[in-house]
Order: sequence, then structure tokens, then C-alpha cells
Amino acid sequence: MANLNSARLYVVARPALDEAEIARFLDDEGTEWRRTSSAQQAEELIELAGRLCYFSFGKRQSPRDASAYIRRLVDAGHHSVLEHAAWSFVLTGVSRGFSHQMVRHRIGFSYSQLSQQYHDEREALAVVPPAIEGNPELVVTWHEAVEQARMAYRTLLDTMERATQEPLRGEQLRLVRTAARSVLPAATETKICFTANARAIRHFLAERGNLEGDEEMRVVSALLFRAMKREAPLLVPDFEERTGTDALPLVVQVPIP
Ligand SMILES: Cc1cc2nc3c(=O)[nH]c(=O)nc-3n(C[C@H](O)[C@H](O)[C@H](O)COP(=O)(O)OP(=O)(O)OC[C@H]3O[C@@H](n4cnc5c(N)ncnc54)[C@H](O)[C@@H]3O)c2cc1C
Repeated sequence: MANLNSARLYVVARPALDEAEIARFLDDEGTEWRRTSSAQQAEELIELAGRLCYFSFGKRQSPRDASAYIRRLVDAGHHSVLEHAAWSFVLTGVSRGFSHQMVRHRIGFSYSQLSQQYHDEREALAVVPPAIEGNPELVVTWHEAVEQARMAYRTLLDTMERATQEPLRGEQLRLVRTAARSVLPAATETKICFTANARAIRHFLAERGNLEGDEEMRVVSALLFRAMKREAPLLVPDFEERTGTDALPLVVQVPIP
């Protein structure tokens, strides 16, 4: 059994600047770009793309620093510039029910998810919702239901595998696993690799981070927000993490003075 503490987010790829190419571009254009030493590469990538739109390099560089510049882009609604910076994440320890909601985010997200057609789910974990975990009676009911489903899955697979003389392969294997998975619960643990750009991540946090009734979504939003705070804080200055009345995190969008 897993719970929401089992959710893990790994940042497996991030934007990287090519300094030689940036220097070549600035040199070819006969201009210069005063850089913000504290800015992350992803932030500078967005600053560079934004400045290109207005050619605000050299004498025309205003605002001077990355923080104020990105802030101006966001305030002006020039959000397409945020699409240049993208990260790849691996998310594990979440339920299939959650991932079904997550993949509804179509724009600026790309997904690769553990397949229940190719992967044998006999030993798959199940993620218990906190609303159930806190109540011993409910946990028993939940656990029994999950175990029953898992046993049915195993029986279905075993029976269909025994029905053939040779070990199942390829499309035959897919066929029996696809049939058997139909009894697996929405709580079944899944793993998903996703790539998302900064604009899409901000949209996700704004839409999903503060839904009191969606515990798993809030936990994942908090993991994503914390990753972004480490990776590119200038891209999420208007979000903050709070703790809900249920002690789980909330990610809230707040106006910046
Ligand atoms: C509180 C809540 C309840 C929900 N309940 C349900 C439910 O009962 N049933 C259900 O099926 N889903 C439900 N959803 C999912 C929701 O409908 C969205 O599919 C999901 O949240 C992804 O949001 P999105 O479309 O903004 O994101 P994305 O798909 O990433 O799109 C990002 C933005 O791009 C623009 N965009 C994307 N596609 C189009 C388009 N075709 N035309 C015009 N503009 C577009 C929109 O501005 C959109 O906000 C719910 C979501 C929330 C937050």
C-alpha cells in the first residue's frame, strides 16, 4: 500500500544555455546583454527570448535585470515567451485516478506513462487517499476492495495464460493484460514522465494547486511548485505554498504588490 507521501517528483531534464552561441548572436548584432548573475539558465532563456521581441539589448536594455523583465512579460500578458523553457519530470507513487486527471492538461505538456498493457501489474501498489487513510474502518473496507480487485486481476491473467500452450508474447500478451487490467482500481500506482513548459506549469498550478477537495492534485502541485522554486523562482513569484486545514499543501496564486 502507498499513500500520498509516496509521491515523488524527479526533475530529469532542464533548459541549458549555449553561451558560445549567445555570444556569437550578440557579436553578430553588435550589441550586448547585461546579465543578472543570480538568474537561472531557464530564466535567462526567457529573458533572452523576450528581449529579442523588443530588441532591448545594449542601450535599449530596460528593465535592467531578469527579475523585473520577466515580471513585466507576465504582467503584460506576453505569456508565450514562457513557453521556451521546459523541464522533464518523472512522477511516481501517484494513482491512476490522479494521472487520468493530469493528462487532461493538453497544451504545453507531453506524457509517457507506465503501460498496463505492457507491464505486469500483479505486484502494483495502490495509493490510499488521505480521506480514507485517517479512518481505520474505512482503510479496512478500502484494503479489502483493492485486494479483491488485485486477486481478480491475477486470476484473470493466470487463467488466460494457462489457456495457451506457449508463453504469451506480443499482441497476445497485450490482449490478455488489457482484458485483465479492466478490474484494476483507480488507486493503482502509476509512473509518468512528463515534459512541460513554464507557461503550462503556471496554468496547471493556478488551476489545480488550490482545490481543497483534491488531495492528490494538491500534493503533486506542491511537488511541482517546489521544483520550480528551485529551478526558476522568477517564473513563479506569484505563487506560494500554504497548508490546508487537512495539513496537506495548497499552492495559491497571489497578487504581487
Ligand atoms: C475543478 C475542476 C473540475 C473538473 N471537472 C471535470 C469533469 O467533471 N469532467 C471532465 O472531463 N474534466 C473535468 N476537469 C478537467 C478540465 O475540464 C480540463 O480538461 C483540465 O483541467 C485541463 O485544463 P485546460 O483545458 O485549461 O488545460 P489545457 O488542455 O492544458 O489547456 C490550456 C489552455 O489552453 C486553451 N485551450 C486548450 N484547448 C483549447 C481548445 N480546444 N479551444 C480553445 N482553447 C483551448 C485554454 O485556454 C486552456 O485553459 C475539471 C477540472 C477542474 C479544475
